[in-house]
Amino acid sequence: MAATLLDGKALADTIRAEIATQVADFTHRCGVKPCLAAVLVGDDPASQVYVRNKQKACEQNGLVSQLHRMEAATSTGQLLERIDQLNTDRNVHGILVQLPLPKQVDSNRVLDAVHPKKDVDAFHPANVGRIMQGRPLFLPCTPHAIQQILLRHQIPTAGAHIVVIGRSDIVGKPIATMLMQKGPGGDATVTVCHSRSRNLPEIARLADILIVAIGRANFVTGDMVKPGATVIDVGINRTESGLVGDVDFNAVRQVAGAITPVPGGVGPLTITMLLHNTLLAARLQA
Ligand code: NAP
Repeated sequence: MAATLLDGKALADTIRAEIATQVADFTHRCGVKPCLAAVLVGDDPASQVYVRNKQKACEQNGLVSQLHRMEAATSTGQLLERIDQLNTDRNVHGILVQLPLPKQVDSNRVLDAVHPKKDVDAFHPANVGRIMQGRPLFLPCTPHAIQQILLRHQIPTAGAHIVVIGRSDIVGKPIATMLMQKGPGGDATVTVCHSRSRNLPEIARLADILIVAIGRANFVTGDMVKPGATVIDVGINRTESGLVGDVDFNAVRQVAGAITPVPGGVGPLTITMLLHNTLLAARLQA
């Protein structure tokens, strides 16, 4: 039997409606609208689309968005100056630096300069450390999106074996950390695989929940999935046949119990969690 489709678009609509209500309530009580400042350096077309989508989502849900465009030749010092201005601007609650930054910029220095209370991507070492300790200020958007998919579809994580393929700072490491914490959406037994893992298909087959974030089109095949497992596909790969995930969707949906599509799975929820974090940032600063 084909797997249940975990529709990220429908869930994003539900959560965005909840956030819009909370934003309206916050604005009514505090007299300020939560504001996200996006910093976009250079003219990478994909980054421009991502930033535009984030801005649009803000506006549709009652938040304010600012766009700070800087030219491709911007130096680390110039960017640090802009971050400093945004850190002290009382009208700005969340700061998002769109990645990747041009190669002349020291990305770590820039991300470390964002005030932890405005760090809506949760990239600052203080926020990463808090997640590790199980007392997060912000949760990073894509891992939070994955956790919400599991929680809201009542897919139990407690005691489950979850295999995460990919160990990036943005997805793999934080989602693995979050899933092993105590409490709702956690308490899992987590295995993390990467490009140096031996016997990866064998390990993947042990998963009750398989999370894939590697950026390799159709990498996970039907024989790598335990029958009935939940499969979360984070990958976004542009191919000749359009946008595809890291999971061979048509083959894996015949084996899995539940699966996220690409597009329309984790993606729409990632932006939703950014709205959530911007509201949270405004509350922290109110
Ligand atoms: P990344 O920084 O490039 O990291 C990729 C990870 O995958 C690395 O840990 C790498 O291992 C591992 N890997 C690569 N090839 C592998 C292989 N053949 N076998 C096992 N592991 C392998 O990527 P990322 O930023 O995490 O993004 C991953 C994918 O998710 C991309 O397609 C990206 O576009 C997508 N993404 C989607 C969203 C969303 O909202 N839906 C958000 C973020 C990212 P090593 O560490 O050993 O090199």
